[in-house]
Amino acid sequence: MSKKQDKQDRVRKYIQLTPQVADGLITYSKTWHPDEGILILQGENKKDRILINGLVIPPFSSHGPYYSGFPINELPMDLSYIGTAHSHPNGSNKPSLEDLNHFYGTISIIICHPYQYENIAAYDRDGNNVEISIMA
Ligand SMILES: [Zn+2]
Repeated sequence: MSKKQDKQDRVRKYIQLTPQVADGLITYSKTWHPDEGILILQGENKKDRILINGLVIPPFSSHGPYYSGFPINELPMDLSYIGTAHSHPNGSNKPSLEDLNHFYGTISIIICHPYQYENIAAYDRDGNNVEISIMA
């Protein structure tokens, strides 16, 4: 598969969150505020979308106002882990250079203060915005 086709494939899928995941992400971000919070996303790769239906608290995570992370080698091998979500207590929900350099999985979700549904954004490995919706 060429790189171009691969990119088109990725853009075609959208991200869907269960309401429990969206609410869990909001609550977790508020709990860590004014530091960043980080979670692992569990989900299923469907034909037309990536469905996120679980959140996992990473072991040995570290948190600061401009940084959050966890040692990837401490994670058990789990094929349902498809990315991470983290909060930005300050500024926007755009990925930082640091975020793109420490990308884990297929997608990255970022939520910024004040942590509401409309502050949630999703990105692929290249930092491209991916459409995201919350399951009705
Ligand atoms: Zn970030």
